[in-house]
Amino acid sequence: MERKVRVRFAPSPTGPLHIGGVRTALYNYLFAKKHGGDFLLRIEDTDQTRFVPGAEEYIIKAFDWLGIKFDEGQGIGGDYGPYRQSDRKEMYKEYADKLIDSGWAYYAFDTPEELDNVRKEFEKEKKNFQYDCNTRSSLKNSLSLSKEETNSLLEKNTPYVLRFKFPKDTEILIHDLIRGEVRMNSNLLDDKVLYKSDGMPTYHLANIVDDHLMKISHVIRGEEWLPSCPLHVMLYKAFGWESTMPEFAHLPLLLKPEGNGKLSKRDGDRLGFPVFLLEWQDPISKETSSGYREAGYFPEAVINILALLGWNSGTEKEIFSLDELIEIFSLERISKSGAKFDLEKAKWFNHQYLQLMPNNKIAEQYLSILKEKNIDICLEHVEKIVGLVKERCNFVADLWEQSSFFFLKPESYDEKLIKKRWKDEVPQRLSEIVIILNSIEDFNSHTAHDKVHAFIEGNELNMGQIMNCLRLSIVGEGKGPDLFEIMALIGKEETLERINIAIETIGKNE
Ligand code: GLU
Repeated sequence: MERKVRVRFAPSPTGPLHIGGVRTALYNYLFAKKHGGDFLLRIEDTDQTRFVPGAEEYIIKAFDWLGIKFDEGQGIGGDYGPYRQSDRKEMYKEYADKLIDSGWAYYAFDTPEELDNVRKEFEKEKKNFQYDCNTRSSLKNSLSLSKEETNSLLEKNTPYVLRFKFPKDTEILIHDLIRGEVRMNSNLLDDKVLYKSDGMPTYHLANIVDDHLMKISHVIRGEEWLPSCPLHVMLYKAFGWESTMPEFAHLPLLLKPEGNGKLSKRDGDRLGFPVFLLEWQDPISKETSSGYREAGYFPEAVINILALLGWNSGTEKEIFSLDELIEIFSLERISKSGAKFDLEKAKWFNHQYLQLMPNNKIAEQYLSILKEKNIDICLEHVEKIVGLVKERCNFVADLWEQSSFFFLKPESYDEKLIKKRWKDEVPQRLSEIVIILNSIEDFNSHTAHDKVHAFIEGNELNMGQIMNCLRLSIVGEGKGPDLFEIMALIGKEETLERINIAIETIGKNE
């Protein structure tokens, strides 16, 4: 029988979630949904020294905003809970004991100082120290000590750690769904710590036990976990769980926009883009890091951006809804090499989503920006303005820059444009246009257009010059959508007032 697809996103609550982690979660989600499977959230907080208050809540809020839903997990519930590893603490001891009993793990009593000294000895000989099959017999552990010595140390409650005992000269084979076969020789591997005498498992033990108990079918995670994978594969063997071992897929790194190397928060700070979904304030330093939400990105755009950072559809199409992604996502199309984050492309995606969004929805968001600026205006009017300027915007907040002149008279006029276009005869011509516009009873963009054009052509005036000067009078600079649309929206009275003010002001203070 086909195994039910169950995948998990397993962040450690050590701070806000970096977009690399969000992408990992997204790929897990797409894979699960594509195969009608379950997507779980498990909080891996076994390393209490790195615990950051608020990080778990942040993670849950971030996915809420993104619109990615977990089927099961911390904060959601489910049949395999608890889903926070610190709440499962008691459960791991049994598994640690099993490994001791079967000889796959051993007690190590070396103190940090003792290990430090050994490390220094190695360094003197320009060698790297590793606790492994070559060194363990000369260190203080249950393999090198007699049974009596070990028992006596345990009876005296001597602090210990449990280490995994890698067998010598064994080739460990990983079938990675993205990378193919990856082989590793056990002699090179470190006897990783699995459990500590304070009763806490390490990531490795808790992760494997939980994936097993939660019936995880596929482990899809960042490439940084590939070096740990031989240990994980061996743990499945040690527990006798090989037949239900999940399949592994290690995702390529998200790289910084320029040069090589993993995308970090520092790159974001330096180049001015967010690396977190939501704004985050560090609880200790109080330092604030920007978020995609606060920068004005739409969640749908962020999903689209992340989906294509490391995966491709094999077509030219770039805009995908979440449902479309679910439909076409496959692990085979994930690239092996790192994916470079591209800020301009990210903005382009948001631009596309802004264009696709209904104007009334954008207007609703823009209305709250306008309210903050004490501009009281109805939604319908804003909707029309949005329709005229949105193609010039990447974010809702850009609308102000592109449309403030609909709400406010110009406070100044573009000097360059004045020099180029505002010739001596212009004020007279604009006064004539004021009269013509004033005479229009049914004032709209068409009637205004026809009258003004007829006037310019009839008098054989320079179209570019007059139109530019009219725009200068109404907008204050040379930008904006169709001028007659602007006139129609601000209305006849306001149009005439602005032209009159310009006639009165421009060229008068020289
Ligand atoms: N807790 C690990 C992390 O923070 C999870 C790695 C895994 O998915 O196995 O990324």
